Amino acid sequence: MTSAAGELAACPVCGHPAGPEAACGECLWTLRSGPQPGPITPELRREFEARLEAARHTWDTTVAALLSPERETYQDQIRGGLPQAAEWAAALQRADLAARGAVEAGTLHARQVKSCRRGLTDV
Ligand SMILES: [Zn+2]
Repeated sequence: MTSAAGELAACPVCGHPAGPEAACGECLWTLRSGPQPGPITPELRREFEARLEAARHTWDTTVAALLSPERETYQDQIRGGLPQAAEWAAALQRADLAARGAVEAGTLHARQVKSCRRGLTDV
């Protein structure tokens, strides 16, 4: 998929190339949804921006935890700034699962759905 400018569309959270799926196959961010009734109010826009910022922060924190066990090492690369201690602890757990080859249930489900749509059996 490409943008109107002809650029390859990417997930706004993780940068993974965006295909035709409704959710990003890497981070599960909703890329497409059905039409919503009513106007886009400032409150809806603020709510969306807050969810996007939180998702970016969580993504960046997890990637930083994969690269280093020290919270401050990649703090300049984490959108939203240095994670709180609890956020860092959760990111270390996600990084540990990823390093062991495990995936979270939501990610696994997204990959299974993606594979089923393609008619593949491997996930
Ligand atoms: Zn993504």
